[in-house]
Amino acid sequence: MHQEHRPTDHAERRDHVEQLEAALVDSALADRVELVARPLGQDTYRIASVEGAVEFDRITETGMPEYRVLSVSGRNPVEHQDAAHLSGHAIERERAHPDRTDNAYPHAYDSVAQFFDSPAAPDLIAAHTAAHFTDGHLGQHGSLGVVQARAPFIASGAGVRPLGIVDRSTRVVNVAPTIAALLGLDVHPDGIGPTGERRADALLRRQDGDPERDVLDGSTADHVVVVLMDGCNANLLHDAVEAGEAPNVASLIADGVAYRNGSIASLPTATLANHTTAATGAHPGHSGVLHNAWIDRVSGGAPDLLAMDQMFWAMQYLSGEVESIFAALERSRPGSFSSATFEFCDTGASFSSFGLVRDRTGGALPELDTVEGADPDAVAASAAYGFMSRVDHLSLTHTIECWEQAHGNPLPALSWCGLAVTDEAGHESGPHGELARAAVRDSDVRLGRLLEAVDRAGVRDRTAVLVIADHGMEQTNPEVDRDWSEDLSGTDVPHREVGGGLFYVGVGATG
Ligand SMILES: [Zn+2]
Repeated sequence: MHQEHRPTDHAERRDHVEQLEAALVDSALADRVELVARPLGQDTYRIASVEGAVEFDRITETGMPEYRVLSVSGRNPVEHQDAAHLSGHAIERERAHPDRTDNAYPHAYDSVAQFFDSPAAPDLIAAHTAAHFTDGHLGQHGSLGVVQARAPFIASGAGVRPLGIVDRSTRVVNVAPTIAALLGLDVHPDGIGPTGERRADALLRRQDGDPERDVLDGSTADHVVVVLMDGCNANLLHDAVEAGEAPNVASLIADGVAYRNGSIASLPTATLANHTTAATGAHPGHSGVLHNAWIDRVSGGAPDLLAMDQMFWAMQYLSGEVESIFAALERSRPGSFSSATFEFCDTGASFSSFGLVRDRTGGALPELDTVEGADPDAVAASAAYGFMSRVDHLSLTHTIECWEQAHGNPLPALSWCGLAVTDEAGHESGPHGELARAAVRDSDVRLGRLLEAVDRAGVRDRTAVLVIADHGMEQTNPEVDRDWSEDLSGTDVPHREVGGGLFYVGVGATG
């Protein structure tokens, strides 16, 4: 039965949200809560911290969102939005876990606004400080801060201008449109843009991002290879390249382009959200895949897409208004072949590793002693490192099989190879630790094997190669290890928190 919505319910709910925000930005939590964001009404938002707050709105008239600051009290928590901030490995290490006055939040207004477009969005989202040590991890991500948001962006080969390393940044939401432009895909006849309005130049059904035109030479590639190194810290990758520890990435940069300031993930800077964004060109708030976990207010269900019994089916949540790059390829070039190996957002791919698991036709992991390029010290130090090395070896094997036409397939027009040990190791040692560095070296070896397969297929000169990630990774401070839930128990606000900062007021109320 539909219940009458009484005005008092609305007022009570607003009071509860305000109480929760006040509790979260209290000085008692200043070492752990960087900022809190929430919508105030249609296209109006507030971001608050212990030091002040900003309220802003979104203007959608042109079809491209614009943002206007309405008021600031105290210090604007996201005043600093420079994507070049803390760029460079030495600087990031020297200023590890920067406090909120030494952090930057690139695209903060757009990133917050898109997030709250989702019908599954919480009442407010709290971002952890850079220092906050959660889940026992020396490396973390998920927040708006630049180090957690910054993924690498490297492109090389057919259709790519050889610019070398440039002082620029892009966004993860631009990845799929850039691939679509490289492949010369057709505009979508019903394409819509970032405000939900019709977009005549959209290469994907919902295109929030834009092709990275500055790196494109105007010609197209017959084949695109994507290697997604999950959670790879961009500064770390560039440092490994400079140190000669990632020769295959180095050779791509030598012939192509690398953005020194990386590729900025959308809020939340987490795996499911930004894999989907990278592969669709739609922000997490628009793709249907808001985060790794959220609460469905209608059904009361709580998807947890990193759970082993859910992750292979994650794309059941992909919005019907969103098109993957694989589906866009099929629309433009019917009968062409694409592969998505250990990629969550595999909708429309001709071959999918996750599809094998769903169909129960494969996906068994290789034994560790058969895995090439697994750093022995790292494997000895961490069982999880060994496990993810097996996953990555299988992902690479699946991709190479497609390049060897093992399924009777044509050569892949698009092959997207997901590698995960970079994220696992980054969490475990932190991006400044030895495991994370070993993971970059190992992933570079796998990239080399994949490039050899493209060489053997004889089409390297017609192939573009991208090395990307879904988000960054930041070193945490193990001394800042207290959970924030105990500090919130003093409030009487019934709420549920999922996904490390998504607060739903009055939902379930079971804490
Ligand atoms: Zn992660």
